[in-house]
Amino acid sequence: MELLDEIKERLSIFNNLYDALRIVDPVNKRVITVNNDNVKHFEEACYGFWNKSKFCENCISIRAYNENDTCVKIECKGESILLIIATPVSYKGETYILELLKDISKGTNNIENMNDNMESMGLLLKKMGDKLIRDELTGLYNRRYITERLPVDINKSSIEGTPLSIIMTDIDLFKYVNDTYGHVTGDRVLKDFADLISESIDNDLCWTARYGGEEFIIVLNNTDINTSYELAEKIRKKLEEKIFVYDEIHINITSSFGVYSIDNKKVEINDLIDAVDRNLYKAKQSGRNIVIK
Ligand code: GH3
Ligand code: MG
Ligand code: MG
Repeated sequence: MELLDEIKERLSIFNNLYDALRIVDPVNKRVITVNNDNVKHFEEACYGFWNKSKFCENCISIRAYNENDTCVKIECKGESILLIIATPVSYKGETYILELLKDISKGTNNIENMNDNMESMGLLLKKMGDKLIRDELTGLYNRRYITERLPVDINKSSIEGTPLSIIMTDIDLFKYVNDTYGHVTGDRVLKDFADLISESIDNDLCWTARYGGEEFIIVLNNTDINTSYELAEKIRKKLEEKIFVYDEIHINITSSFGVYSIDNKKVEINDLIDAVDRNLYKAKQSGRNIVIK
């Protein structure tokens, strides 16, 4: 049986949940058919369906392929709004991407079936939304999240009259790590440092983001300068004592920290970032591996 037919048969109970089904090779950007002998036939370009002359920049099939996970997106085609679910399927040792397309602009006549699937669909959509606000390498919040969230926290602090603190940290001499061990190892160090920061934070008043390259921020709601300083100092010491081991390589790094707090004062986001950055700069000037408040 052809792979697509086999999949259709397996999915027959979900017949009402999709309007079209196809298998794509997201690397070659082709719709494919795979027969019993596992021979792959390239058909038309996958983006032809969307009346495009080049492939989609926001291709979720390549994402599903790379992450080996199900991805969703919503696209317009003519008058219709389509929900696309891309999921990896394994067939005789090869991975392909199954795309399910559902026209969500017209009402469903199978609401019960839809309800059963709303929960998992909700989770999928949340996961996709998360990608917009998360840094891919470290899993921490990204720069976009900082600009969307920090003004809200500043506002809350000023309305409620509670302190708001921010810690900014920049890994010391990180260029040396890249130059000595390569960027791939450098990336692993960044991820592991991000994990170390996350593990050091145990309350939901705080959130952590990657500000840029090897710079991270921790925002602490309703937390005063001394408590924030102590947290920065705890992370600094933990990192100083940590040895990252990657096969034969042992790496020890340090990081410098700036801490700044506002108390019952409304400031602009850029002024807050500038203020904490100045303290971080002083930490670098003081010889690195130090917290300045
Ligand atoms: P300092 O103590 O003054 O901060 O020194 P430094 O070497 O850390 O500072 P510099 O700004 O010279 O170098 C930062 C390095 O961080 C250079 C850049 O290649 C590296 N970097 C930034 N983003 C990434 C990334 O995503 N992955 C890797 N591997 N390296 C990155
Ligand atoms: Mg640095
Ligand atoms: Mg830097």
